[in-house]
Amino acid sequence: MDKATWPVSPAARGIDLGDEVWLSPSQPGHDGETATFHAHRIYRSGVEIGGVDYQVCHACRAALLGELKLATEEQRHGLGTRVLDRLRRDLPGYRWAITPEKPAARPFWDRIRTAHPGEYGLGVRSFECAHLLF
Ligand SMILES: [Zn+2]
Repeated sequence: MDKATWPVSPAARGIDLGDEVWLSPSQPGHDGETATFHAHRIYRSGVEIGGVDYQVCHACRAALLGELKLATEEQRHGLGTRVLDRLRRDLPGYRWAITPEKPAARPFWDRIRTAHPGEYGLGVRSFECAHLLF
């Protein structure tokens, strides 16, 4: 999607994160009985700047982040934190884990773990969910 095809209607744009940043509606995923898959693109002013995907186990109230990607110029301005906070708000009380972090993202995850002690451990073993895939 680019500016020319950027929808006018807020419902079609998805979730408003403020400052012209939107999370697209989730792409259809392969949902199982207890687990659902979610994938959002991230846009600023109608231009794609990244994406985030995650699986959620509703039986265990657990979520596993797949990938959180932002364009280089969008990094280090708190946007990743805002995306994660919004996802937490939509799944209140759910615990979060991440798939193995890239070395370059380690300072980011260190900050996130300081803000959310005990959260964002590596893999679903950090919360003993048998339903998610990683
Ligand atoms: Zn589970």
